[in-house]
Amino acid sequence: MTAPYMVAQRLDGKACAASVEEELHARISTLKQAGIIPHLAVLIVGNDPASHVYVGSKVKACERLGIKSTHIELPSDSSENEVREIINKLNADESLHGILVQSPLPKHMDEEGLTDLISPSKDVDGFHPENLGRLVQGRMDGMLPCTPSGVMRMLKWAGIETSGKSAVVLGRSRIVGNPMALLLGAKGVDCTVTVAHSRTVDSRDVCSKADILIAAVGRAEMVTADWVKPGAVVVDVGINRVDDSTRDRGWRLAGDVDSSVADKAAWLSPVPGGVGPMTIAMLMENTVRAAEMK
Ligand code: NDP
Repeated sequence: MTAPYMVAQRLDGKACAASVEEELHARISTLKQAGIIPHLAVLIVGNDPASHVYVGSKVKACERLGIKSTHIELPSDSSENEVREIINKLNADESLHGILVQSPLPKHMDEEGLTDLISPSKDVDGFHPENLGRLVQGRMDGMLPCTPSGVMRMLKWAGIETSGKSAVVLGRSRIVGNPMALLLGAKGVDCTVTVAHSRTVDSRDVCSKADILIAAVGRAEMVTADWVKPGAVVVDVGINRVDDSTRDRGWRLAGDVDSSVADKAAWLSPVPGGVGPMTIAMLMENTVRAAEMK
């Protein structure tokens, strides 16, 4: 039997997000003195309950910071053309600095095509090809995608050394895994990065060699202690609903990382309270930046 290595320190996204908001307060007040109120439009189509919860959290963050938010809701049977027309109007609105189209859109819509339509300077999600393209070029001056940039901010805030470390990103999605890998491998961060995905042979073995492991796979508690190198930094991006009859509501939130990892890792981000609040904080920062650039 192997003795537990340690109890992981909590990589506290909630506390880190609060420090980001603190900085933003000062920047927003400078903007307001110049007569500019940062303004974010959030468009949601359909009635996916989780998406409505996410949008609610984003609108609340705007209220806390004094960012104006415009919340647009469309029914799930809306046409793609209606969404296009709204995005075009929002692009043309001079008083608006950021546009967010909440994912997922209904299946009959071309989500990537609609993202392409958002003006890159208002693309506060950082998913437009121009912004992702800059990231591929190693340029950090575009809008960076909120979840991966939130992870990077949290690592820096906790004083975690990245240079020369071996990082594994589990997942290669357009919005999390791929940009995460680019940020970890960027000059100045300097990790040696491996990306694992559903076709990777023995993901467990690949992950177990990582100094820094980012789990963004969308499978509840898949990463157990035997996937983790002793003393690793483990960031849990996953948000999964799992049935739980002991809860009144009948379910609980779970990350992609199992609780057994806490006895082996040096650092572990919780779910909830880890990457989620950081994603929102980075969205707020992108909105403020968009207003400053204008
Ligand atoms: P996607 O479903 O788009 O991507 C999942 C990735 O995991 C894919 O690249 C897939 O590989 C890979 N994968 C699936 N199964 C396996 C497996 N058995 N072994 C190895 N790799 C596998 O998810 P997202 O990237 O959008 O999100 C990931 C998680 O993060 C979700 O739980 C989501 O809810 C959460 N999330 C959390 C956010 C936050 O703010 N905290 C924000 C955004 C997402 P392949 O490419 O081969 O299919």
